[in-house]
Amino acid sequence: MIILDGKKISNDIKYEIAIEVTQLKASGGKIPHLAAILVGTDGASETYVSAKVKACEKVGFRSTLIRLKDNVSEQELLKEIHKVNTTLDIDGLIVQLPLPNHIDEIKITEAILPSKDVDGFHPTNIGRMALNLPTYLPATPAGILELLKRYNVETSGKHCVVIGRSHIVGSPMSILMGRNNNPGNCTVTLTHSRTQNLREITKTADILIVALGKAEFLTADMVKQNVCIIDVGITRIKSNKTKSGWKLLGDVAFDSVKDKCSFITPVPGGVGPMTIAMLLKNTLKSAAQQVY
Ligand code: NAD
Repeated sequence: MIILDGKKISNDIKYEIAIEVTQLKASGGKIPHLAAILVGTDGASETYVSAKVKACEKVGFRSTLIRLKDNVSEQELLKEIHKVNTTLDIDGLIVQLPLPNHIDEIKITEAILPSKDVDGFHPTNIGRMALNLPTYLPATPAGILELLKRYNVETSGKHCVVIGRSHIVGSPMSILMGRNNNPGNCTVTLTHSRTQNLREITKTADILIVALGKAEFLTADMVKQNVCIIDVGITRIKSNKTKSGWKLLGDVAFDSVKDKCSFITPVPGGVGPMTIAMLLKNTLKSAAQQVY
């Protein structure tokens, strides 16, 4: 069993990006600049955004954090997005989700200029992804592809089962694994909460991508020998064994399945760290105008 070490690979990627930025600086090239809009003071969102800003600093990018109150109107938020869209120096814009209930997330996503949409959530970029055209891939699925690639996991002709059909993970993942690419070229089954006989399906998977948000849902009796498991889930539970009083669990019962796996991602330290690394990669691509 080989652990797909997302912490190590994400550090490798950040190191590679930092070298490119140093070279850009030396040659007078455009220094990538990421803007993030954070609405409100939700603890998890604060943590995610500050991790993104810190990662920018680490690789030498510029970053701008725009904080808005949680009662900001949709119109005001759209105005801020327009400002960033039209600021030439800014290459990438992310609006941290979720947004307060009075704001329409789809409307906000669609307001971001596709050429600055480094989260890859804009319908134009999702469409380009489906058509295998140059685009910004959503960061978590892109991170999973990068892990599979760097560990030379064979995907061609394999049966890939995805659990969960969210717009940010499961759905794009199912498209990416079925594309005529490497990684890709899988026969894909996308499963969700209405799927019947899930266990019969997961037992036929060569590659399982698990993103449903239920701690330790996938157990050894649901998988076949030599399966490759990608665990996307992150559930925070109370623990008296850690300093912080919390621990993170994945959607996979790691100890139960690990001996049956050819490859497996741990939680934490698997898919999670890859997400920010791929956001940085998208921002670098945008600054270099490699997509649009
Ligand atoms: P979500 O919460 O939006 O949706 C869950 C999906 O799981 C739905 O499509 C639903 O149909 C499916 N589902 C629910 N119960 C099911 C069942 N019993 N059988 C089969 N399918 C079932 O999904 P999300 O936003 O992709 O989040 C999933 C998990 O991934 C969460 O724990 C989240 O925190 C985590 N996540 C991690 C990262 C990362 O960077 N590692 C990024 C995004 C999400």
